[in-house]
Amino acid sequence: MQMRPTRENCFLATCQWCGRDDLPCRFCAGSGWWRPERPHRDSVGAIDWVRVEEPCRMCAATGKEHNPLAAPAVSGH
Ligand SMILES: [Zn+2]
Ligand SMILES: [Zn+2]
Repeated sequence: MQMRPTRENCFLATCQWCGRDDLPCRFCAGSGWWRPERPHRDSVGAIDWVRVEEPCRMCAATGKEHNPLAAPAVSGH
């Protein structure tokens, strides 16, 4: 499988998630790309599902987890 290059950083200039590489994005498995299926209507009106490839939106194509489920709890106490 061909590995696409990932972006170094997301849109944030200083991002705590881009600075670490121990958490691969769970949506794209760290590849920075995902392949969702899109509905496509063909000439006779039948819905077909086509697989597309696009940069992962959840990690801004960095391949790094940006919204972990088990985020470290920040407590004021
Ligand atoms: Zn980031
Ligand atoms: Zn991702």
